[in-house]
Amino acid sequence: MNKINTINRRKFLGYFGCCACSIIIPSCTNAPITQRRQLKLIPESTLNRQAAQLYERVKSKTKLSDDKKQLEEIREIGSRIENAVSTYFYSVGKPDPTYNFQWEYILVDNDKILNAWCMPGGKIAVYTGILKVTKNKHGLAAVMGHEIAHAVAKHSIERASRALILNVGTAAIDIFSGGAISRTQQTTGVDVAGMLRHFGIDNPFGRKQEREADYLGLIFSSLAGYDIRESVEIWKRMKNEYKGQEPPEWMSTHPSSAKRIESLKNWIPEIIITYPPIVKSG
Ligand SMILES: [Zn+2]
Repeated sequence: MNKINTINRRKFLGYFGCCACSIIIPSCTNAPITQRRQLKLIPESTLNRQAAQLYERVKSKTKLSDDKKQLEEIREIGSRIENAVSTYFYSVGKPDPTYNFQWEYILVDNDKILNAWCMPGGKIAVYTGILKVTKNKHGLAAVMGHEIAHAVAKHSIERASRALILNVGTAAIDIFSGGAISRTQQTTGVDVAGMLRHFGIDNPFGRKQEREADYLGLIFSSLAGYDIRESVEIWKRMKNEYKGQEPPEWMSTHPSSAKRIESLKNWIPEIIITYPPIVKSG
């Protein structure tokens, strides 16, 4: 363990040394649409590359559903949201935050997990368990919109950057050096859940990021032509499914689900008017 840590630290310091300019000077940018200030110290390309590697591992080590029709629906919703996001940013003359994404979708065969995630760079997984809550394409679009919003707003970069500054634990260094994947493989073989945890994919994002993903998710689903009022309904159904148990990331309790539903209800009328469908409905 110590030896591996030392190697990681050395790799990390090496990286730090050769790219000092881009790393030491704090890089502050604004989140798309909300304009929230964000600290980004880690190159997006590094994180996307790591995510793509991990996604390959997930694909090879997880039982994927053979329900082609369902996967097709996921891809259809995803591609509508992809187009909506790119078209929107083009239409307002802003750089497309997804220009370097390589979108991909999988349906994981696990009825017990009520979850979905989108890794940096647009690598998406939906678990069959969440389909009983999403129920229809509008519900699924709401969940996917939320997850895609985390990636579009680069929340993983922000989180890794903060961890780097605080120097707590090795998570950021792992992501930086590729240790997250290599070390987990060394210690546990093929523990995909462990790798996801190291990468920070299935941990709750911070309160501001969750709120931002809710807001942006509604905007992207609306732009893609889905009925965003369904988001309130799936939150209610999700609450029923869990009944006091620990909810998954996207149903994170901060802010509380009641408060979250209230925020969604407040945003929906304005978003429907301000962000009407930008891609053809079908
Ligand atoms: Zn979330």
